[in-house]
Parts: sequence; structure tokens; C-alpha cells
Amino acid sequence: MQIEKNLSILKNSIPDNIDIVAVSKTKPINDLKEAYDAGQRIFGENKVQEMVSKFEQLPKDILWHMVGHLQTNKVKYIASFVNTIHSLDSHKLLKEIQKQAFKNNREIKCLIQIRIANEETKFGIEPSKLEEFLNFSKTLPNIKISGLMGMASFTEDKNQIRNEFRSLSNLYNSYDNLRVLSMGMSGDYQIAIEEGSTMVRIGSKIFGERNY
Ligand SMILES: *Cc1c(COP(=O)(O)O)cnc(C)c1O
Repeated sequence: MQIEKNLSILKNSIPDNIDIVAVSKTKPINDLKEAYDAGQRIFGENKVQEMVSKFEQLPKDILWHMVGHLQTNKVKYIASFVNTIHSLDSHKLLKEIQKQAFKNNREIKCLIQIRIANEETKFGIEPSKLEEFLNFSKTLPNIKISGLMGMASFTEDKNQIRNEFRSLSNLYNSYDNLRVLSMGMSGDYQIAIEEGSTMVRIGSKIFGERNY
């Protein structure tokens, strides 16, 4: 019952037009079922094998979002069903997603992950590379670039987080044809929404803390 409660508290605390990706990584199937029964349909995972296994066990109207770093050689395992890939960050990955989407005769939605944090550890392309990246993706018929994704630095400094989200939001707003701005996690989604997020990726606020 706790998951249903958490979801309802979360939904009541954010505007209706913001999409919630329930990030269920490491959590057991029964937790996902509880969220599903409460009406949740978008689930996020960061490991290919785990996503495949959960996809096989759960209802087929779930929209599966890959939020973690994706290795090129693993795209083939999720290409038949994944709805959106949030972590597009290289030409090589883009070409492989195109190849596998074509094989499956479908379109795969992708968000380009932009490096906004100062930290060295975060994946993503540099903002200055976006234009070229978008132009290249237009030549790929089975890829739909629906927007951008970014992660703020892991810091207590709320101003820094806000500034990083704002820079991504400005970049997003400079393109008319992008529809999705995926930014904000359990610890920073309120700031992300204030700065223009259209999609938040929430794990622990829904499912509780993860025990790795
Ligand atoms: C785990 C994860 C989340 C959710 O994190 P919480 O802090 O538990 O909300 C969001 N985005 C990505 C890319 C993640 O890996």
C-alpha cells in the first residue's frame, strides 16, 4: 500500500502535465505491480537484463524507458519493446538503435543526454555538439528524437542544481521540435519542474530507498 500512497502524494505535488517515469531498478516485480495497479504506466530501468525480465513478467501496456547508460551491444535485447531511451550519447549508439529499430520494423523514441553537471562522472554529450547530433539523427528513419535528458550534479547546493537545470532548459527551448525535457529525480524534481521539466524520473520517492 505504501507505493500506491507514495505515487498519489507525488502526483498531488506536481502539475498534471508532467510525466512521471517510475524508476523501478533493483525493485521486485511485486513493487512494480503495485504501482501498475495504482495506474502507473511508465517505468524506468537502467539495466538491460533487468528490463527484459520485468517486461516479460508484466502487462504489455507498460511503456518501458531506459534511463541508464546503454551499451551498444545490448540494444538488440530491448529494441522490440522499449518505448524511450533517455541516454543517447554517441553516434555509435544512435546507429545501432537505428539498425535494431529497423529490424523490428518500428520507431524508437530517444532523448539526447546532455552533460550539464560539472562532475566528470556523468555521461552525455556537450551542449555545443547538440546541433550536429540532431542533424545526423534526422537521417535515421527509425529514430525519433523527442527531447533532451540531463542529470544535475550530486550536491547539496540547490543554486548549482538550479543553474544546471536552467542551462538545459534554455538549450531545450532553443529548438521548436523537441517535446520532452527529462530532468529531475527524487531529490531535485521540484527544482527541475520550476525550471521547465516535462518529465521526471522518480525512484526512491515511489519505491523507497534502494539496497544495492
Ligand atoms: C536511479 C535513477 C533515477 C531515480 O533516482 P531516485 O533518486 O531514486 O529518484 C533517475 N534517473 C536515472 C538516470 C537513474 O539512474
